[in-house]
Amino acid sequence: MSDSSAKRGFTTAILHSDRDAPVEHGSLHKPLHLSVAYGYRDARELAAVFQGRAQGFAYGRQGNPTTAALEQKINRMEDGVATACFSTGMAAIGAIMVSLLRAGDHIVSSAFLFGNTNSMFATLLTQGIGVAFVDATDAGAVEAALTPATRLVFVETIANPRTQVADLERIGRLCAQRGLIYVVDNTMTSPYLFRPKTVGAGLVVNALTKYIGGHGNALGGAVTDVGTFDWTRFPNIYESYKGGQPALWGITQIRKKGLRDWGATLSAEQAHHLAVGAETLALRMDRACANAVALAEFLAAHPRVRAVYYPGLPSHPQHVLSQELFSGFGALLSFELDPALDCFDFLNRLQNVALSSNLGDNRTLAIPVAHTIYWEMGAERRASMGIAESLIRISVGIEDRDDLLADFEQALAV
Ligand SMILES: *Cc1c(COP(=O)(O)O)cnc(C)c1O
Repeated sequence: MSDSSAKRGFTTAILHSDRDAPVEHGSLHKPLHLSVAYGYRDARELAAVFQGRAQGFAYGRQGNPTTAALEQKINRMEDGVATACFSTGMAAIGAIMVSLLRAGDHIVSSAFLFGNTNSMFATLLTQGIGVAFVDATDAGAVEAALTPATRLVFVETIANPRTQVADLERIGRLCAQRGLIYVVDNTMTSPYLFRPKTVGAGLVVNALTKYIGGHGNALGGAVTDVGTFDWTRFPNIYESYKGGQPALWGITQIRKKGLRDWGATLSAEQAHHLAVGAETLALRMDRACANAVALAEFLAAHPRVRAVYYPGLPSHPQHVLSQELFSGFGALLSFELDPALDCFDFLNRLQNVALSSNLGDNRTLAIPVAHTIYWEMGAERRASMGIAESLIRISVGIEDRDDLLADFEQALAV
């Protein structure tokens, strides 16, 4: 990175990073590379690329130039050492687990997790890996759950759907003291609102499907090694990945296992969509966060609303912490309706809101949590997680604010 590029701001860097290296025909977007295989000048170059001694691409499953350009962008956003992209956010998390853990190892995870991540960790339990789910808003609970076999700690920044904020800084210090990999899923904040590196994260996950892509038209995930973890202290690195600089051992193993062996590869077309979306991350996020603050305040003041969960409200238990850590409170909120209102009828009255399970789209999306994404776990588990039967999750989009508020106002006016 040249001196001038190091000083560039967040959006400037995203917009111009493709041109830091020569781009074919001066194209302002990194072109789509659809070839599965690559040719080489001679047999020695072919061997050097396969052995990792020379730069180049071996086979499409392990990456392609379009995806590599996106990896560069994500890496700059997270101020990382190296980034690997995957077909989905789940694939990115799965690649970490499958590549770094062995039977007998143990992890500590926040209990407030994206539902499918929760389900993945439950699967690990059946495969000889111990998992402790704890209240990660309290670093003491994380500490109490550590065992001599603990290899990593996993948290999300702002949890979905109840918006609990993990005790990010203290957990970071704990992981540093104990030599543990600190994995932070930054999806809900995105690197625009928060860089987990600042609290000592070792690996940062982003579901690119959400805010970074932003348009709900492409799936993708990323793992960024931000350079704080000392891989020479980690027992599970295979000898074959200890050739180069230790800083790259972890991401090399994640890439080799996750992409080459498990095949969770991001296609060039999807990488292109995500890279285009990333250009406007800051603009979209500013607007969506401002809309979310306005909507949360409106709902909190409304007599037909029983509770609102949003880190931007002073009533939120981690409001002050969020203010200190993040440059915005995010664009996801949830709320409980007055029990006299039917949540399905309420949702059906919304006109400028799409009923959808996704989040991070430009459009505002709503979903009745207990009846959909948290249905499978049953009423008892929902109650234990503080998920009311009337809880509605809103992923706030970039619509005109007054349209959004008017829509909720009419849907509540019965
Ligand atoms: C959506 C999401 C994921 C998974 O991303 P996909 O691209 O849908 O697989 C992981 N973590 C969080 C916090 C998410 O919101």
